[in-house]
Amino acid sequence: MSNHLLTLAIVLVLAATGGAHSEQQHQHDTPISRFQNYLRINTAHPNPNYTAPVSFLTAIAQTLNLQIQTLHFTPSKSKPLLLLTWPGSHPSLPSLLLNSHLDSVPAESHKWAHPPFSAHRTADGRIFARGAQDDKCIAIQYLEAIRTLKAADFAPIRPVHLSFVPDEEIGGLDGVAKFAASEEFRDLNVGFMLDEGQANPGDEFRVFYADRTPWNLIVKAKGAPGHGSRLYDNGAMENLMKSVEVMTRFRAAQFDVVKAGKAALSEVISVNPVYLKSGIASGDGFAMNVQPSEAEAGFDIRIPPTVDPELVRKRIAEEWAPEARNLTYQLIEKGPTRDFRGRPLATPTDDSNPWWSVFKQAIASAGGKLAKPEILASTTDARFMRQQGIPTLGFSPMTNTPILLHDHNEFLKDTVFLKGIKVYESVISALSSFVEISE
Ligand SMILES: [Zn+2]
Repeated sequence: MSNHLLTLAIVLVLAATGGAHSEQQHQHDTPISRFQNYLRINTAHPNPNYTAPVSFLTAIAQTLNLQIQTLHFTPSKSKPLLLLTWPGSHPSLPSLLLNSHLDSVPAESHKWAHPPFSAHRTADGRIFARGAQDDKCIAIQYLEAIRTLKAADFAPIRPVHLSFVPDEEIGGLDGVAKFAASEEFRDLNVGFMLDEGQANPGDEFRVFYADRTPWNLIVKAKGAPGHGSRLYDNGAMENLMKSVEVMTRFRAAQFDVVKAGKAALSEVISVNPVYLKSGIASGDGFAMNVQPSEAEAGFDIRIPPTVDPELVRKRIAEEWAPEARNLTYQLIEKGPTRDFRGRPLATPTDDSNPWWSVFKQAIASAGGKLAKPEILASTTDARFMRQQGIPTLGFSPMTNTPILLHDHNEFLKDTVFLKGIKVYESVISALSSFVEISE
């Protein structure tokens, strides 16, 4: 191990002393330019171009001599999944999987300082693009780290796989969900996966050991209609408003726990009303003297892995949308809450998980400091891997960086991007070469 690092250090010194001349010669083909070129491929929804990024990454993989497979999990083959492999000297050992998604959310170009698919780099090194943080940075960083390790003659013991997947931003159902359930995936014998994380304005690396599971709840109320002037029981609006009151109290109680500093935002159940629908349309407004016979409300609910989902289901049925108040509801659970053995979808971040110990040590070796492991407030593809029982951490090495995912003017600084490559060199070499595993 220390020999590898020594060799790596020598190669890095040689590369650094190559000087400005070779830097200029290759300025069109550097880690930064490859990052910019990847960012210039528009893979934003609702019509992401998946062909171009797969070709682009395949070309890089060829220069690195990696094994290349393109998998399809839809009949139209319009959503390719690129799978690269760096074989290990001990192919029977559980492998390391590095995941990133090909797609991005849309960008409102006119609200950006620089066009979102130009990957413009300012004088102070900020590279502006949709996907700069979420999550095209890690795709190129994985590959650049492998490039450096290969140049230093590092050879992994375990196989290292890289997956570049479609549709994460729309739920991953045609992407990682199908991949994780496939025979191709089982054959990879994945022991540990790294997936995307988030930036930190501070100087510690954030790491995520679980996601919250999103649920959509639609509550529908029915009741007798009547004149707007009447007072009577069991109107649709009255019944629905009672639900809204009960849920609002629950929301406040959860939020109080956060405000009191007893839990992070991602550690409680969030319940947020997102739409209300009722009224009898009349002209360009509503009939104000009619109490409507139907009303509906929609809620975004997020369930942390520490909560028993059955208790929330019971609460919905008994308190939030009880039949007794003429309410019906539709609950859409957008992803699993338990793994295939019925355990919470959370990856251990203690010494019971040997991958964690190696990961933590590798960050320290790269001169980095890890923040306290967190639950992600939102959702990523990682949940589908955790459902398969595979320990998975969310990690994007971005320190001293404002959190701009899905925001206008998303950017990543060149120095932060390059430092991230160094971090992955340490992480990939360590995770792919440790052998003591108690399974
Ligand atoms: Zn993402």
